[in-house]
Amino acid sequence: MALFGNKKISNEPVDMFCYQCSQTANGTGCNVSGVCGKKPTIARLQDNLLFAVKGISAYNYHLNELGVEDEEINKFLTQGLYATLTNVNFDLESLVGYALEAGKINLKVMELLKKAHIANYGEPSPEAVQVGSQEGSGILVTGHDLKALEELLKQTEGTGVNVYTHSEMLPAHGYPELKKYDHLVGQLGGPWFDQRKIFDKYNVAVLATSNCILTPSESYKNRLFTMGPTKVPGSQAINGYEFSDLIAKAKELGSLENEEKTTLTTGFGAGVVLSLADKIKELVEGEKIRRFFLVGGCDSPIQGTGYFREFVEKLPNDTVVLTLGCGKYRFNDLDLGDIEGVPRLIDLGQCNDAIVAVDIAVALCDLFGVELNDLPLTIVCSWMEQKAAAILWSLLYLGKKDIILGPILPAWANDNILNYLVSTFNLTPIGNPEEDIKRILS
Ligand code: SF4
Ligand code: SF4
Repeated sequence: MALFGNKKISNEPVDMFCYQCSQTANGTGCNVSGVCGKKPTIARLQDNLLFAVKGISAYNYHLNELGVEDEEINKFLTQGLYATLTNVNFDLESLVGYALEAGKINLKVMELLKKAHIANYGEPSPEAVQVGSQEGSGILVTGHDLKALEELLKQTEGTGVNVYTHSEMLPAHGYPELKKYDHLVGQLGGPWFDQRKIFDKYNVAVLATSNCILTPSESYKNRLFTMGPTKVPGSQAINGYEFSDLIAKAKELGSLENEEKTTLTTGFGAGVVLSLADKIKELVEGEKIRRFFLVGGCDSPIQGTGYFREFVEKLPNDTVVLTLGCGKYRFNDLDLGDIEGVPRLIDLGQCNDAIVAVDIAVALCDLFGVELNDLPLTIVCSWMEQKAAAILWSLLYLGKKDIILGPILPAWANDNILNYLVSTFNLTPIGNPEEDIKRILS
């Protein structure tokens, strides 16, 4: 039984599962320990490494699509995968080392992806995005792939087809070279998991550009298009960036109706936030900003995720919230106002824009002459899928302590791994929002 924060956690009885080889117990899976000598913690650290490597691969895929290859990243992906092969690595320290190395490589891939986004689409700047439909036929783009969006915007220019974003495409509205297109008209829906409702509601053609796609319902599968490695039954796969079938489908579907709109603000790049550095310093030193919170990450519709909205709602007015990923949709409709011109809610972008948060944190450390863990910054992370494992290890690689994590524990972490994460990094589970805020601010 491990202690995670003040919670007692036991992952019994499924502490281990491995079916990597022909010796597997009963021909179905080793679930106590392996004939090969593999112990539960080793099996779980291998799974953890696989998750992190897959997360890095997703970012690397988008980077490669923008024409950037990096030898160090590619080499690590090969080595990291090889370390999880049957009977290669039974060494606990080595596998923890690989996890931390995955964190380091993930920082590199996020940094290169950010640079490639800026090189192609310009430095993001804040944009109030209209949420709701307008008259005219439409294409709704979901996922993370900004290059796909740009190519689609080029090909739909002058066709009368409007383009909308969904989920993690929202931050696209902040990039000058994307927002310059007048027919990028707004956003429909929120996080990835509202897609069945939203894709059903709006009679538009849908383009899924990356992960976090669900198998479609009958009501919209004939107007769903996928690209790259993304594929779901019933949808039409697009070849490269050739969108003529998608555009034809959008036209065939006819016009949407004008809806009453709400707005969401996105597009705070590191440059925008750091242009406020002197003001931020003055406000922190004048005790007008007490603490920064990075609240965000991946999100899912499971029990416990209401924590994040309540947490942000209950933060006192002298705090600033940075956010990113789908986690933002828990609270990005809130008007938190500003502190003498510094917004209290700052949307940094997609999950890979965690690197922007890191860049801001490093710059604030320089500004205040302190180490990362002495900065008045608390990270409150929501997680859902495997990219989140890569990002968590990036933060741990940087030595960030006292991260609060929820809504549930990563299932790959058994008692031994939890003990390590708690004793080394003081990783803490989400608790009660009010009590957590009180503890952090005390
Ligand atoms: S690699 Fe080891 S633990 Fe995995 S199935 Fe084979 S014997 Fe079992
Ligand atoms: S932030 Fe995470 S959960 Fe949301 S769409 Fe991106 S990868 Fe999926």
